[in-house]
Amino acid sequence: SQNEFKSMLEAHALAANFYSHLLLNTVEGEEALQYLEKRGFTRERIENYGIGWSLHDREALSGLLKRKNFDMKEMERAGLCIMKDDGTGYFDRFRGRIMFPLRDDNGNIVAFSGRILHGSKQEAKYLNSPETPIFEKSKILYNFHNARLNVRKTGKVILFEGFMDTISADRAEVTNSVAVMGTSLSDTHLLKLKRIAKELIICCDGDDAGWEAAKRFSEMAMKKGMDVQIALLPGNMDPDDYITQYGGEAFREKVIGNPHSFMSFMMAYAKRSKNLSYENDVLQYIHEVLEELSLRSSPVERDLYIRQLSSETGISAEALQQQFIKMAGQQS
Ligand code: ATP
Ligand code: MN
Ligand code: MN
Ligand code: MN
Repeated sequence: SQNEFKSMLEAHALAANFYSHLLLNTVEGEEALQYLEKRGFTRERIENYGIGWSLHDREALSGLLKRKNFDMKEMERAGLCIMKDDGTGYFDRFRGRIMFPLRDDNGNIVAFSGRILHGSKQEAKYLNSPETPIFEKSKILYNFHNARLNVRKTGKVILFEGFMDTISADRAEVTNSVAVMGTSLSDTHLLKLKRIAKELIICCDGDDAGWEAAKRFSEMAMKKGMDVQIALLPGNMDPDDYITQYGGEAFREKVIGNPHSFMSFMMAYAKRSKNLSYENDVLQYIHEVLEELSLRSSPVERDLYIRQLSSETGISAEALQQQFIKMAGQQS
């Protein structure tokens, strides 16, 4: 209902203020604040993004919400609290984590993602709010509200896998970026982006999961008719690692400023799992590239990539061309 909506938003605003205060002004938040500073977060950016700290105490937020007369059942439905096993009360969902508020398109805080301070095998690195009446995961993109104006201005939007990367991109003066929460991108997300920008630059982590995500994201976006390019990172770096190591200018010019077309990305993707000094790998590589190429209709693209394939493999462009025609013939 309207009322439930309103009080859930109020509770999230209150929680965010509480977490922020704990991070910035208390002894309990000192370690987390130092951690963030070490990662390059300025105080100003911490405040702008509303970042905070949740205490280890099991009932810090629940107690506060209760004192403010929030309906605790509703707070459980809002994802902030969890009912105790014996049913005698509620405890906090988020404890001992750095808190990142997630906002809807109007800038209202509708959920949180909490990061543990130190790597731990027992606990997941990030804990997110569950799906709630105010938080539909398939609709929310991190930083959408903030980036919208700059996206419209540039006609371009950059998509990252993690919100940490969006905050780092801001540090690199790239202000037209949004992030999914990991590897789930929905058609609804893409339609939102398409409405404000024609061009999409996908910039996923450089690890295996990131390459897979980049492939999946770009195929989904092309299906939606977006103009897609893929920015690649060296090694296993993610955008945040890259910016920390090489700086904002390098990120703007070499990564975001030098994205690959989908075909060129596909060739790099296909090569990743192969050793082109092995004959079998070469044949497999040629097959994969020609297959992908048969899905494109542009003769210029075909010519360009067949020539590139030829120079990479040492097979003549004529032979590749013939193979291509044969494959395309089999498909239709
Ligand atoms: P950091 O630099 O702090 O390690 P990151 O953004 O590089 O963070 P990744 O491991 O690359 O983190 O994950 C990207 C995104 O995937 C995160 O922003 C988070 O939304 C989601 N994610 C990662 N690990 C988990 C997890 N264990 N549970 C839920 N979501 C997760
Ligand atoms: Mn990752
Ligand atoms: Mn990452
Ligand atoms: Mn990272």
